[in-house]
Amino acid sequence: MKVTQIFNQSINKHHCFGKKYRPRNDADGFVCFSSASYDNNPPDRSRTKFGMTTRLQEEKISFQRGLTPEIAQAISRTDVGAVSDWFAKRHMPTDFQGNQVLAWCCQKTAMIFGQLKLGLPKGIYVIDFKQLEYKNPSKALGTCNLLPTSLIKGSDEVIPPKTIFFNSMQPWQNIDTMADAHYAEGGSSTDFFMSNPFHEFAHAAHEDWLVRMFGEGKTQRRIEMFLDEEQFTKRQEEYQRKYGNRILPGICRYALVSPLEAVACDLARVIADGLNPVTLLPPKNLLVGTPYERLPLWRRLTRSRYEDLKRPLPEVLRNFWNGEFE
Ligand SMILES: [Zn+2]
Repeated sequence: MKVTQIFNQSINKHHCFGKKYRPRNDADGFVCFSSASYDNNPPDRSRTKFGMTTRLQEEKISFQRGLTPEIAQAISRTDVGAVSDWFAKRHMPTDFQGNQVLAWCCQKTAMIFGQLKLGLPKGIYVIDFKQLEYKNPSKALGTCNLLPTSLIKGSDEVIPPKTIFFNSMQPWQNIDTMADAHYAEGGSSTDFFMSNPFHEFAHAAHEDWLVRMFGEGKTQRRIEMFLDEEQFTKRQEEYQRKYGNRILPGICRYALVSPLEAVACDLARVIADGLNPVTLLPPKNLLVGTPYERLPLWRRLTRSRYEDLKRPLPEVLRNFWNGEFE
């Protein structure tokens, strides 16, 4: 089936509001980092592979960041059609192109995010990124559309926000090695094997949270303000000047792209680190004490205020999560 047919079938066109938006040609993956000034600063290695291995060995898990033989077996037994039916029952259209790894990982990610009461994506598609409007289609792993966007080459179809795409041209059968490589080059803040699905779902959860607080129009204006092509370089420089010295060592290099990436990178790590390593289930209080916790009103009102340059990273992220991007 052609992509446009899939979208015709699955996308409610009323989600298109505001001006038609062209993408800024960034997808999450092995992309060029736009901040030359940080090139000589490698990402923090306090959570090195070796540190992680040691910790996992202490927990008697001998596999790098989560992908056990049991999980590999479960993935190889995955009925992709049944996974799509599971998503369809929850009003999420999907097309995994028969990809068992992505189908299994997305279902598991949706269960985890659902248990944490985080919002879920609008739809999930596996597609050759050469069919999308992106500059580096061969390097991208995935993307979450954040604004109503004409994303498909040669089509005016407007893709609604919170729609996730994974690049079919990536070797997903090696998802654990991909996650390791991505982490090693600073593209991710965790080497957990599902880091990329977690990252894309984190974008959808973030946008969902913003829409719950501000409504769709205001949320999109806030996101657009940052992603708008004319404004982007200026906004990014300002963002890096104010927060780069905490974002880079505290999260990862890719988080320097924008406040939205900082949240997606960090939330993915928070969840990966908080899961039970055997069952992959999240404890109920996983988000308590993190920037993504829902604070009662009195705690929101009594929070300390800081100047931008002195704000501790968790408070920087709490502001970004709550839509205060500046
Ligand atoms: Zn991202």
